[in-house]
Order: sequence, then C-alpha cells, then structure tokens
Amino acid sequence: MPTSELAGSGDGRDSSIHLDQEATSALEYFRDLYENAPSGYLVLNLDGCILSANSPFLSLTGLSKGQETGLNFRTFLTSAGAIFYDSQILQPLLLSGKRDEIALDLKIGNRRIPILANFSLVYESTEPTQIRVIVFNASDRRLFEKELLRSRKEAEQLSEVILHSSDAIVTAKLDGSVRTWNMGAANLFGYAGPEAVGVPLWRLILPEEKLELSHTAMKSLKSGLEFSWEGASRHKNGSEIEVSIKLTPHMEAPGTLVAFSAMIRDVSKQKSAERALLQSEKLASVGRLASSIAHEINNPLAAVTNLLYLIDQQANTPALKQLTETAQEELARVSQITSHTLRFHRQSSNPTDLNLKNLFESVVALYRARLRNSSISTEIRAHAAQLHCHEGELRQIVLNIVGNAIDAMKLGGKLYLRCRQARSAKMDVDGVRLVIADNGTGMDQATMAKIFEPFFTTKGIGGTGLGLWITDDLVQRNGGFIKIRSSVSSTTHGTIVTLFFPGKTVSEKDHGLSY
Ligand code: ADP
Ligand code: MG
Repeated sequence: MPTSELAGSGDGRDSSIHLDQEATSALEYFRDLYENAPSGYLVLNLDGCILSANSPFLSLTGLSKGQETGLNFRTFLTSAGAIFYDSQILQPLLLSGKRDEIALDLKIGNRRIPILANFSLVYESTEPTQIRVIVFNASDRRLFEKELLRSRKEAEQLSEVILHSSDAIVTAKLDGSVRTWNMGAANLFGYAGPEAVGVPLWRLILPEEKLELSHTAMKSLKSGLEFSWEGASRHKNGSEIEVSIKLTPHMEAPGTLVAFSAMIRDVSKQKSAERALLQSEKLASVGRLASSIAHEINNPLAAVTNLLYLIDQQANTPALKQLTETAQEELARVSQITSHTLRFHRQSSNPTDLNLKNLFESVVALYRARLRNSSISTEIRAHAAQLHCHEGELRQIVLNIVGNAIDAMKLGGKLYLRCRQARSAKMDVDGVRLVIADNGTGMDQATMAKIFEPFFTTKGIGGTGLGLWITDDLVQRNGGFIKIRSSVSSTTHGTIVTLFFPGKTVSEKDHGLSY
C-alpha cells in the first residue's frame, strides 16, 4: 500500500477511500508500528517537502506535531548539506531507488542533530512519487566515532614513538615469534624489520648456549609476571652486545597469556664505564699501597746503600770490588723503582718557580750514560726559563717522556728539548709550551690508541706501562695538557710530545745548547 495512505491521517484524502473492517484494522496496526518505531520516519515528496513525520522524529528534532508538515527537508540541512542533498542523495536516489547510511547534521533552531538516514523511493506503478526516510539518532555514534578517531590517532602517535625509539621494543606472539620489531631493535641486533617478523624472538636475541633461558622466561610470563635479564646477546654479525632485557606479559581474561613485549637496551657502554671505574678504583688503592711500600723500603734501602759503600771501601781484591759494584748498581735500580714508579701516588708539595732550562739539563745529566750508550745527541732550546709549578711533578713528567724517547732510539738518534712562552688557543690562556721530540721508532695507530692506558707497554718486562699514564695525570694536575704525534714512516719516523702549562713565565734570552 502507498505510504501516503498509511501515513495520511489528517490530510483529508483517506476519507474519500472506502476501507472495509479488515483493512482498517491492518491500517491501524501499521500506523501503530509507524508511530512507535525505534527510529524517526519521514515521508517527503520529490521536492523534499515533508508530507508526514512520526513521533520519534518529532521528539528527536523537538518539533511539535503539525509544525513539520510542509517544511522542506533541505531547510533542515546546512547550506553545504543542502547542496550535498541534491547531488549526493536525490540524484543517486532517482537513479537507483535507494541511499543508505548517509550521515547528516539536522539544523533545527540553534541545535545541530547528527543523524544517519536511509532514503528510498516510493513508486506508484513505475513512477517515483515519494521519498521515504528512516532517521537514526547518531549523537552516540558520532561520539563513539570521535573517540575512536582520537584513540586511533593516539595509537598511531604511540606506535611512531615506539617505531623510532632508540631502545629496542619488540612484541611477540604467544609462540614467541616476532610480531613487531622497531628501529631500535633493527639497529641493536642488525636484523631489518621484515627479516625479524615471524622469526622466534629467542633465536634473534639469545646466543645459542643461552636458549634455555627462554623456558624460564615463558614460565614467568605465563604466570603473568615480568621477566628481566642482563647479559651478553649477539648481533647479526656475530659480535657480542651487552643488553638488559625486560619482558612484559599481555594477558587476557581469565589470566591467559596472549602475547608479550620486550624492551631491550644496549648496556655495553654503561658496563664498560663501570669496569673502567672499578679499574681506576683498584689502581688508586694499588697506588696508595705502592706509596706506603716505597716509604717503608726507603729507610732500609738507605742503610744497605751505606753498608755497601763501606764494604766497597774495604774490598781488597778486584773480584770483591767487582761484586760490590754490581750490588751497588742493582741497588741503585731498586731506588730508581721506588722513587720513580712506586711513589707516583705521592702528595704534591707547594708550587715553586722552576727554571726549565735547569730542569732539561738535569734530566739530560741523569740520563747521560744511557744517552751515550745509545749514541743519542741532545739539543736544548729554552726560550721561557721559569714556570711556577710543582717542581717534583714537572721533573717526573719530563723524566718519563725523555725515558721513552731514549727507549725508542736504541740505534741512535737525536733528542730535542724545547720550551717557549705560548698561548693556548684551546684553553685561551698564556703559559709555556714544552716540546720533547725524538727521531726514534715512532708509534703506529694501534699503539697510539693505548699509550695512556695503565700497564700498556710494548717493552715486555722492561716496561711498566705506567709512565704515560702517570704523566697524563701529573700534567692534568698542573692544569696543562699533553699532545703526542708520532710517525713510523721510513723517512720521518719519530715522536713529538707537546706539553702546555698555563701560568706566568719569566722569559730569558735564547738558551741554545747542544751536546
Ligand atoms: P713504558 O715506557 O713502561 O712502556 P709508557 O706509559 O711510558 O710505558 O709508554 C707506553 C708505550 O708507549 C711504550 O711501551 C711505547 O710503546 C710507547 N711509547 C711512548 N713513548 C714513545 C716514544 N717516544 N717513541 C715510541 N714509542 C713510545
Ligand atoms: Mg715509559
């Protein structure tokens, strides 16, 4: 039956139609359905004028009964909505007879009512005569949609953050296979995302011999507990990386593990810093111990030196004299060790004015025998003579560096000792620059990288590997810095050590001196 008959109460047309009893009760039944439908119901003519509206539509829009008839549906729409209505609803509707699930805003007075509408054409014989509209209140749905959009955006932002995090963040399925693998994980382990996804996580992050750990991990995850572990993991290229791993279970009711995620952090740097700290603490205590040993040894050493001197005086055969001389030499070496090696932890005294030319000369004098034995000539040029500094420490610095230079010139060479007033661009202060250079063997890159490490030596049992380590410390304690350049090329081999100390210097005229 045409909708106008069903909805047509009050338009005067139904009175002209004769209906028998049965038809009347059917009509009543449908009218009842129409009025009490859970959604709004409208009948429009092809121009969009409202012919009839049911109560749910009226209560949704707040219109009172009778107010709606004659109004054009387009006037309920915003201007853009009206254009939309003609082009996107009416035209397709006339072509296909139906338009479903159209989201529109009804503008009634000051209110804006979001709706979802289904449009369909009503035909009389084959001619379209009316438009039937079912209207659903979409306020809730719009809210849900908004909420959904917001949380989807939030999730997208979050997953961007996770994707670009420098920490490895990985999610895995219940069977342990990787579901997501972020850039941090790709950087840390060397597997690109597509390479890792689907592969058992354990195979990617645990070395073969530690695969057992996965059982313990899964056990605690299944009981809803986090699992943490720190240890050696392996990069794709086989190198070892120290990592800290934290696994978090994802449970669904009732307490079933469905997936888990892993946060993995590279702790290699942190670990090596911890080790270095431990090492330097150990060294500091070794230093304190050495210093007190040196102190304890010095007195008996002085006594034995004196006794040997007396024995030497009374030695009456050449053989005995030779023996006591050897004993004295060896003893001198012991004193050298206690004063130069073991006493490096000594507390420094007050700074004094040190004549650098004298310092150079006394160091050269001390090494005279060794310089001569190795046929090394020396050149001293001192332009800045005085430096306010800790004399003992500066002497030790120069002794250590010159000692190394002599060691590097076993087959002869030349030792250069220079100093002059200078300005450090790096520190932006005035001071003095000392240069100690040799044309000895020089050092390659690998050696250069390690020379300041304690106990690093290329001299076997002949070296302690403490010289430059102590020197660096002493230079820093005096507010200066040390720079070493070296070459092993066959034509220009040798080493140049530059030292800079800030402070007032008293310049003297050129002190050129050659040996
Ligand atoms: P040591 O002299 O006991 O070996 P150092 O800390 O003084 O310890 O020096 C460390 C290492 O640096 C030496 O073993 C040597 O290989 C290298 N080195 C230092 N100075 C020189 C130099 N002038 N020429 C060549 N090698 C040097
Ligand atoms: Mg040395």
